[in-house]
Amino acid sequence: MNFAAVIVAGGAGKRFGSKEPKQFLLLNKKKMFIWSILAFKKVKECKQIILVVPEYKLSEMEKYKKLYKIDVVCGGKERYNSVQNGLEVVKDNIDIVAVHDAARPLITSKIIKEVFDSAIKYGGAIAASVARDTIKFSKNGKNVTKSIDRNNIWQAQTPQMFKTKILKKVYSNKIPKNITDDAQLVEKFGKRVMLVDGGYENFKVTQPIDFKLAEYILKNRGIEKCL
Ligand code: C5P
Repeated sequence: MNFAAVIVAGGAGKRFGSKEPKQFLLLNKKKMFIWSILAFKKVKECKQIILVVPEYKLSEMEKYKKLYKIDVVCGGKERYNSVQNGLEVVKDNIDIVAVHDAARPLITSKIIKEVFDSAIKYGGAIAASVARDTIKFSKNGKNVTKSIDRNNIWQAQTPQMFKTKILKKVYSNKIPKNITDDAQLVEKFGKRVMLVDGGYENFKVTQPIDFKLAEYILKNRGIEKCL
């Protein structure tokens, strides 16, 4: 069994507040998206890497295309549009597709392999971490409506991996606007999605404080660990 990785780096990163989208900033001496490419390249079953970038970045990506032997495609307005564009160039012989956020540069080959093994066995699997804080639900954003048992709450991460046929099928339908990950579409389709513990380091770089933390962790990781 093999897989292809669609690494989505097509966002504007508005919440981060920098002119250059965060995934193209230098993080511990490499542009952020490169850390994800290196982690996927370490997994021998990964036979194709597709990087999805904003249109104006396409020419700049030419050198990385050659250097890392990856395919590069243009992103879309929403994350799901970017995933759709990536899916279009997945090669015919690919069994499983992994979708990964370029904004999660701390992904490791160990997590990728565990999600892949689970996706082979069950058809779909995602990296996720169980909630650490007590979770409150609020209807109005002002007062607590109820408390939720945190042991049942998992925060979704990426990679999210699915049999190619399933993922292509769910992405060929009309996508609701509020969809923020791939698993939601597969769940709606009635398919089981397994949870794989991705730990707490595989966070999404959203705010400048996340960037500093990611840099600190990468600097302190042994090179084997981060690849
Ligand atoms: O916006 P959010 O933080 O959920 O984005 C997650 C990932 O999806 C990021 O790596 C971002 O670059 C990517 N994305 C994309 N195309 C978009 C929006 C987001 O590839 N239109």
